[in-house]
Amino acid sequence: MEWFRRWRRARVLKQVEIDPRLWRAAVDRYPFTRLLSQPELERLRELAVLFLHEKAIHGAGGMTVREEVRVAIALQACILILDLGLEFYRGWVEVIVYPDEFVAEYDYVDEAGVAHHVEQAMSGESWERGPVILSWADAQEGGQGYGYNVVIHEFAHKLDMLNGEPNGFPPLHAGMQRASWANAFAAAYEDFCRKVDDGYQTEIDEYAAESPAEFFAVMSEAFFESPEAVRGAYPDVYAQLALFYRQDPGARLARGVADERARPAA
Ligand SMILES: [Zn+2]
Repeated sequence: MEWFRRWRRARVLKQVEIDPRLWRAAVDRYPFTRLLSQPELERLRELAVLFLHEKAIHGAGGMTVREEVRVAIALQACILILDLGLEFYRGWVEVIVYPDEFVAEYDYVDEAGVAHHVEQAMSGESWERGPVILSWADAQEGGQGYGYNVVIHEFAHKLDMLNGEPNGFPPLHAGMQRASWANAFAAAYEDFCRKVDDGYQTEIDEYAAESPAEFFAVMSEAFFESPEAVRGAYPDVYAQLALFYRQDPGARLARGVADERARPAA
């Protein structure tokens, strides 16, 4: 059915457009897209068109999902799969957007056998084979260059869930070594948790210390938003992420800075 999918997608790309003004505004808004080459930017736009065609984005809690919200979510979701393809978001269709933090409720039984009911305010959540849920207020904090980006964070969980429960170990590509991934991430996670315990101010969001799954998601946010922070602190993790995402945002950034310097002053 591969030919059919390709045919259908080519047809969608011919028939569906993103309002060029909204697209331009979204590209300008996020630093990680500003440095893409022209062919990369075109690929990102095509992926965003297909993403919007194949996924349903619904508002909840009084949220009206305007076209610019859809475009901003699609653009950020697709930066992760720019060199992977939309197949990496297979097996689910829905994105739910709340205007602000939303309350997740769940039940669990602790080690002593006591049942608990928990209500927790969330900025984002991803369900295995289910929806991605986002707080739009929190999503708007992304793209500021601080390494924080809830949309990239939740979609990184989606990639991690391609091979089951999120554990910071997404399915690796042919040619990647499981041991290299495991060693790089285990050493960095241990170091990061120790720094957080010691009250050390880290450039990377402390929430990464929560679990190996959160570590991978937070490192992915930072990889696109502030690649130099990841490369500086954990070069081996940076190298594994570059292999996994098939992108090198740090090099892109360096190239952008060089171009900026080479430009004659106006
Ligand atoms: Zn998370």
